[in-house]
Amino acid sequence: RGTLMQGKRGLVMGVANDRSIAWGIACACAAQGAELAFTFQGEALEKRVRPLAESLGSTLVLPCDVSDDAAMDETFARIEREWGKIDFLVHAIGWADKQYLRGRYLDTPRDAFLQAMDISCYSFTAVSRRAAAIMNPDGSLLTLTYLGAERVMPHYNMMGVAKAALEASVRYMAADLGVDGIRVNAISAGPIKTLAANGIGDFRYILRWNQLNAPLERNVSIEEVGGAGLYLLSDLSRGVTGEVHHVDSGYHVVGMKNPKAPDI
Ligand code: NAD
Repeated sequence: RGTLMQGKRGLVMGVANDRSIAWGIACACAAQGAELAFTFQGEALEKRVRPLAESLGSTLVLPCDVSDDAAMDETFARIEREWGKIDFLVHAIGWADKQYLRGRYLDTPRDAFLQAMDISCYSFTAVSRRAAAIMNPDGSLLTLTYLGAERVMPHYNMMGVAKAALEASVRYMAADLGVDGIRVNAISAGPIKTLAANGIGDFRYILRWNQLNAPLERNVSIEEVGGAGLYLLSDLSRGVTGEVHHVDSGYHVVGMKNPKAPDI
């Protein structure tokens, strides 16, 4: 067990189960001595998240639906009562009506678009504002994004548009919070089989395509995203803010299909 995160307290939002990216980041931080709190969305997930949290020595496990301002106020008030200040926050939350995560982006109706934007983009701004108000200098805020923000990916549709807005919000918040010594960054993860990924059309094909065509010729794990998360949340990345860091086996640098890859 290392000591990189000794004395730091952080809130992890977005664990649904032990395959969640948030869980990979939580484990990496806990292994370096961080003290963690967790939020979960809805009672159904509590029975999964609470034992996971407890396995890392965490007893602060709170409900929080990020579409609900009052719920977020309550969560951060409770964190402040328990801890006073926090040092970092992980936002690994995204959602879109999966009915529209196939077919044409063009056909997205307004209400589905706004809901995806609300949960997948605005919620990071909403929790960051509350977290920054109780954050120590040298604090770090982290969210998760995907290459579909930068390029067109089949079926990613309005999530790509929401992630593009999320990445822009990382840059604007980095500028807002730099004066307080608080950093804001994102990890752009390669495809990983999680609950959220299940909603995306042809996800198995996307996984296979990335595996065959990424420079490392494999997909990434939540442990690898966890390692990069640890870096961005710790003092190792003290000079880094407003960054979108790719953890995708290098897939984002590739311009064409790997000529050695078999057809799929
Ligand atoms: P996941 O299903 O394990 O996590 C998604 C989390 O979002 C869940 O814990 C869910 O409860 C939470 N959530 C959804 N709506 C919410 C709401 N209204 N209030 C509170 N929480 C809510 O899946 P994951 O893949 O670990 O997703 C984490 C993040 O990583 C997401 O932002 C996702 O877009 C991003 N991401 C995932 C991949 C991938 O391939 N899995 C790749 C790049 C980025």
